[in-house]
Amino acid sequence: MARKTVLVCDNCGKEVDEAKGAVMRVTYTDARRGAKQADLCDDCAGKTPGRAVARRGRKPKSATAA
Ligand SMILES: [Zn+2]
Repeated sequence: MARKTVLVCDNCGKEVDEAKGAVMRVTYTDARRGAKQADLCDDCAGKTPGRAVARRGRKPKSATAA
């Protein structure tokens, strides 16, 4: 467990501190295309498109109906 992996931002190439950064995961609607993910530093993570997603809890009823 002592092995330390150095995380590098896939966008800018900067080293990402252990307690920082983010993983951006893209899942294609077409399942055959699979998914891809990128490790991002805090800076780049903030620049990506997207919106905040609730971590847990139930989906609102309006979302379930759609
Ligand atoms: Zn970066």
